[in-house]
Amino acid sequence: MKLPTCWSCRYSFKWKELLLHFRKIECPRCGLHQQITKRKLQQSQVITFIITFFTLVGIHFIYPYSLIGALIYVISIMLIALLFSPFIYEFTDKEEYLF
Ligand SMILES: [Zn+2]
Repeated sequence: MKLPTCWSCRYSFKWKELLLHFRKIECPRCGLHQQITKRKLQQSQVITFIITFFTLVGIHFIYPYSLIGALIYVISIMLIALLFSPFIYEFTDKEEYLF
């Protein structure tokens, strides 16, 4: 897994710089706006769908035994997804829409 680079100056983003940015990201070196590519947006939608599916299946099995357990389960999945999200980015200069 590798972190994305700026489409203009090839600056390699650091993990923490991307952690809490979801749509609007600027390059710290050249200041240019970064857009996530359509391909990566589509991939992230598929990943989100898979994660949601497994979260719901997991809740179905954990919830009857422990509400707290189900809550911890959901929070940890969201946390893991958030921590790995910077790795799926790929940037372009053009705004690309999914539809
Ligand atoms: Zn740059």
